[in-house]
Amino acid sequence: MNFFVYFTHTTQMKLFVLIGLLVILLFGGCTSKPLFPEAPFVEASYCHSPAPHTEPPKSLPETNHIKWVDFNVSYAVLAKAYQYDVSTYGKDVHLKMPELLAYISVKNGNFFSSKRDVKELDKIATRLKAGENLDEIMSGNKYYKYHLEVYQTIFAEFLGTTAEGKYGLIASHPIAKGRYYNHSNDFGVARSYGYKRRHLGHDLFGSVGTPIMAIEDGIITEIGWNRYGGWRVGIRSHDNKRYYYYAHLRKDSPFAQGLELGSEVTAGQHIGYLGVSGYSNKENKNMPNAKPHLHLGLQLIFHPSQEKGSKEIWIDIYAITRLLEKNRVAVGL
Ligand SMILES: [Zn+2]
Repeated sequence: MNFFVYFTHTTQMKLFVLIGLLVILLFGGCTSKPLFPEAPFVEASYCHSPAPHTEPPKSLPETNHIKWVDFNVSYAVLAKAYQYDVSTYGKDVHLKMPELLAYISVKNGNFFSSKRDVKELDKIATRLKAGENLDEIMSGNKYYKYHLEVYQTIFAEFLGTTAEGKYGLIASHPIAKGRYYNHSNDFGVARSYGYKRRHLGHDLFGSVGTPIMAIEDGIITEIGWNRYGGWRVGIRSHDNKRYYYYAHLRKDSPFAQGLELGSEVTAGQHIGYLGVSGYSNKENKNMPNAKPHLHLGLQLIFHPSQEKGSKEIWIDIYAITRLLEKNRVAVGL
């Protein structure tokens, strides 16, 4: 492993490597994800890590970025943190969703239990409203700032001033308002086509032609046919840290009019139509034996090396999609 060869010249890194080996011996390959971010994505993804990401080695300033994220926040916790954020906006103490989530995930080791963690949220909210400071409470915790960066990155453009002029959710649900869909938590389940791989996204089932809306503002960086995704659109956020992937769009007319590579889109803009295209080297083919659905993916990018390849970070977007139910947008608005 080149990681070892590269670093064994310092005593500090020898110690680090020894600790790493000991952890591997004790816990098996699962811990290789946070310790060795170079590990292939698919292999690493099978294991569950108690931490959503790891502290990078201090002697490597050029790689001082987050290597991995397991987004495990349950919907109940997410909804409660959102509620606190909105209800305290403009008050003396504004409780921000990313900070609350970072506190909870550090406290629970990234193993969420809705009932317990909602109670913890209530407790910390009471303390903060009484004047305590979260940065001070977490000052001795070396993981807090990494957890905070993760949630600040994911939700950077989720809250703001809505069309009605109120503070709330400005990111949009991907299915147009008034249109039926159903979904379940399907992130990470096994899929195979040509080779075995995990499902790195979330499927929303509906009827062909259901309008698909952009979740947040961004630039279209991919549009057209892809052998797995079929007709698909990829939208990169303006801060470059999030990439949304909308796939299996409608055969024959997949996209909303006027969209092309480089087009700017806004949250809630109509971008395409639900379909069942994909899994073919030939363009404009529907998948055999599949129900029409939108495949939705959210990739986080903390460093250019994570744009494509084995270091890509795709997160479970099921709970987030449920939160987005609070902002369904109709076509033409
Ligand atoms: Zn899918």
